[in-house]
Amino acid sequence: HHHVRYANAMSVAAAVEQGQVQPEEIAWQRLADYRSAGGYQLLMDCQEGRVSVETLTSELEHAGLRGLGGAGFPTFRKWQAVRAEPGPRYAVINADEGEPGTFKDRYYLEYEPHGFLEGALVSAWAVEAKALYIYLRDEYPGLHRVLTEAIAELEAVEIVAPGFIILRRGAGAYICGEESALIESLEGKPGKPRHRPPFVAQKGLFGRPTLVNNVETVYWIPRIHAQGAEWFASQGRHGRRGLRSFSVSGRVARPGVHVAPAGIALNELIEEYCGGMAEGHHLVAYLPGGASGGILPASKADIPLDFDTLQEHGCFIGSAAVIILSDQDNLADAAANLLGFFADESCGQCTPCRVGTEKMLTLLERNTWDEETLQQLARVMTDASICGLGQAAPNPVLSLLRDFRSELASQNLIAKG
Ligand code: SF4
Repeated sequence: HHHVRYANAMSVAAAVEQGQVQPEEIAWQRLADYRSAGGYQLLMDCQEGRVSVETLTSELEHAGLRGLGGAGFPTFRKWQAVRAEPGPRYAVINADEGEPGTFKDRYYLEYEPHGFLEGALVSAWAVEAKALYIYLRDEYPGLHRVLTEAIAELEAVEIVAPGFIILRRGAGAYICGEESALIESLEGKPGKPRHRPPFVAQKGLFGRPTLVNNVETVYWIPRIHAQGAEWFASQGRHGRRGLRSFSVSGRVARPGVHVAPAGIALNELIEEYCGGMAEGHHLVAYLPGGASGGILPASKADIPLDFDTLQEHGCFIGSAAVIILSDQDNLADAAANLLGFFADESCGQCTPCRVGTEKMLTLLERNTWDEETLQQLARVMTDASICGLGQAAPNPVLSLLRDFRSELASQNLIAKG
């Protein structure tokens, strides 16, 4: 049905990047088609005073729209926080999409650039932004061209003033997906997270109040307005509100981007959207939120995949990058792989993260795990790191020590029993 979308493992953007498709052959949504389907009506209504910012803010509140980049902060509250600060203000779209296993934003940028741009422009309007910056992951060069052309289309018909949307390229650093590091990078500085407070809503880009939203979050805004807050809210499951895009990879029959109810449980996601497990594979573990969100056992595949429930289990959903592991995967190797990733991507600014990730990696490479040292190191990293990277880096190890003790014992990494 229409909520299920499937992106091939070899997507259009990847095909362009590998030279298999010419950029001019990408069949992305054109301005004329989007407009004839009612596109940009909301933006016009906002700009011409037919929809007020109060109305739209309350629609987003009732819809239950939350930030889909990872933090899950209610979108309407972000708008209010930025609006409460004096102008000039800026709007920034985080299109850095660097969390391992996440590829949903690419889907929207690739197939529905105008759907996304309308949501981004409405957000910029909502905070009366002086300019709208889009920070695009540099690993998406095919999408740079799509967005450049889509923005040119908007400027040509004067929906947008020339230069209002500023498209910037990242440079391959995972940490630049963290909003304050992203802002540093936009200012031309090395991408290092800032201490908070002040929050970027107060002092963001060029020291001004800044609204930072994820690609998918703003994509939903025109759709929520068109179909109603009630409609969106009612799509959730297990007491949650709304829809969201799950990037599913690993041992399922149909990996890809699946638009599914917020709060769906993993078992339901696999059965209803992913065609079951891949042949010959049995579910053993899953990562609900990419590299950062921890690892859960198959025995916990019935809990709602949402911000709050997962937290009770020491995990988090983040950008909903769901990675499915089976009896043919080695969990200790997976954890070491993730720690290696964090060690590589640490910006090096603070010691618990810079030294902690390296140290934890060496501890994992031993034949026997020193559980007490791992736990102590994890506590220091979680408590004393400046940003989410260092705070989340121990999650895969903590998950294994909590929920996969018999697996670790069977490899003699910890004592049996
Ligand atoms: Fe940089 Fe890591 Fe510290 Fe974050 S926690 S500021 S990535 S060193």
